[in-house]
Amino acid sequence: MNSYIANCLCGAVALEIQGGIEAIIHCHCSKCRKSSGTAFATNGFIRSSGLRISRGEESIRSYETAPGRSKHFCATCASPLFSSNAADPERLGLRLGILDSTIVERPMSHNFVSSKASWEEMDVDLPRYDGHEPGR
Ligand SMILES: [Zn+2]
Ligand SMILES: [Zn+2]
Repeated sequence: MNSYIANCLCGAVALEIQGGIEAIIHCHCSKCRKSSGTAFATNGFIRSSGLRISRGEESIRSYETAPGRSKHFCATCASPLFSSNAADPERLGLRLGILDSTIVERPMSHNFVSSKASWEEMDVDLPRYDGHEPGR
């Protein structure tokens, strides 16, 4: 089974992820742009049961972006850690930039490209969708 390690920028919070990462996408939606401060956020899903907070649980704060949907981040350095959706408790969203492990999975598409930053040129050769990828 895949096992990955993630740490926030300041190191207060460490995560251990068991079971791999599914459906990795580059998301250009405005929520991802604003919460990351970058052109797009690279997000994947992990199993809720596969996440272990190995250090710094007391440093984790949450922001509810919509009813039942929360982003959890480090209170000290503001690194995004994971996101949760009460309607889909079996899985969590993960920002791949916080991983310190080499992963075997790869991004599969650019999503919400109609919301992309005007200055973003997008030269990566991946499928592009105006919303979620087909089937989500
Ligand atoms: Zn931190
Ligand atoms: Zn997004």
